[in-house]
Amino acid sequence: MNINFYMPTKVISGENCIIENKELLYLGKRCIIVTGASSAVKCGALDDVIDALSDMKIDYIIYDKVKENPLLSCAYDGGIAAAAFDAEFVIGIGGGSPMDCAKAIAAFAANSTISPEKLFDVASLAPSLPLVLVPTTSGTGSEANPYSVLSLDGEDKKQTFNSPYSYPKYAFLDPKYTYSLSPYYTMSTALDAFCHCFESFMSPKSTEVSRLFALAGAKDIWNSFDEIEGGEVSFDARAKLMYASFFGGVAINTTGTAFPHPLGYNLTFNNDIAHGRACGAFIGEYIEYQKKDSIGSKLLAEFAACLECDIDTIACRIPALSKVDIRLSDDEIEMFTEKIKSAGNHANAPYKISTEEIKEIYKKLFK
Ligand code: NAP
Ligand code: ZN
Repeated sequence: MNINFYMPTKVISGENCIIENKELLYLGKRCIIVTGASSAVKCGALDDVIDALSDMKIDYIIYDKVKENPLLSCAYDGGIAAAAFDAEFVIGIGGGSPMDCAKAIAAFAANSTISPEKLFDVASLAPSLPLVLVPTTSGTGSEANPYSVLSLDGEDKKQTFNSPYSYPKYAFLDPKYTYSLSPYYTMSTALDAFCHCFESFMSPKSTEVSRLFALAGAKDIWNSFDEIEGGEVSFDARAKLMYASFFGGVAINTTGTAFPHPLGYNLTFNNDIAHGRACGAFIGEYIEYQKKDSIGSKLLAEFAACLECDIDTIACRIPALSKVDIRLSDDEIEMFTEKIKSAGNHANAPYKISTEEIKEIYKKLFK
């Protein structure tokens, strides 16, 4: 039995958890707050953080330039701004985009003389500034892992910055921040979290501990899909989704993700499909390929039994909820395949798909 486990983040959860634990924010006298354009204000998280910082007499600047699927250059600019302000720590508020970007900003701030591309040369970096994360979506689980998924400028391609210094010191999980999330993103982020749990559960890198998190998360998300589809999501369901998303983040902290992720990145860049929906679109095909492997079949059966349903129901329902209705040309399929054919995710499953199979999947779903 393998119960190896590492996750060095202190997690504080519940309504008003920031203001009730404001003393934890005293990680220095100056900090940079990293957000997207408007969600941190809209959901109330920025006000809570500013109130807590003001009470603790901590000076701050706000870097609110992070867009969805954040660019490496945006993280670099944020790091330079943090260094110029002499920030001693970083607070990221938002969905996966600002949280991932905050991880890279914390690294650039402590390594302000490097060029942007050098960020991925992780072994050469000085430790990042301490980081606090406040999720406002229930999807990525970025608050529970060191991954910072960045878009490379001018390349329509993502690369993950993964440094041992990128775990947040504190993660504050307050479900009330997701009330302002639109139905489109509530569903998309729930699908993302479900994919994390599922892909992690199937991974050969799984441990007994990561599977506990993956199954607990998957079950709660699966049981919330009716409510999300109905459009009225209660506080209880939002709390379950936020914690399930965190569970997914813990699970992929051990295992990483599988092929729905890189195949989905192309749909996000090329067709403007939100991350979770783009990944969810491939879950039916993912299941079909895993059935070809004896360990894969066994794990699929275990996963479905835990959700008290049939694996073919999952294979139909997740892509249907993803609602990705696009058509791709032969040229696009060639270009998509070329961009992601060497991603490590393909090997992170019992059945490992080939480059030819990547093309077949795109053709079957979208031609
Ligand atoms: P996101 O890209 O952070 O945000 C999507 C949209 O939702 C943005 O328009 C954002 O507005 C808005 N939004 C966020 N919270 C809101 C709220 N509470 N109320 C109203 N609007 C809100 O979405 P995400 O799905 O959470 O993150 C996706 C990113 O995370 C991708 O780049 C993906 O590659 C990455 N990712 C990382 C991991 C990981 O483990 N680190 C895992 C999976 C995915 P603003 O622009 O104003 O903020
Ligand atoms: Zn994801």
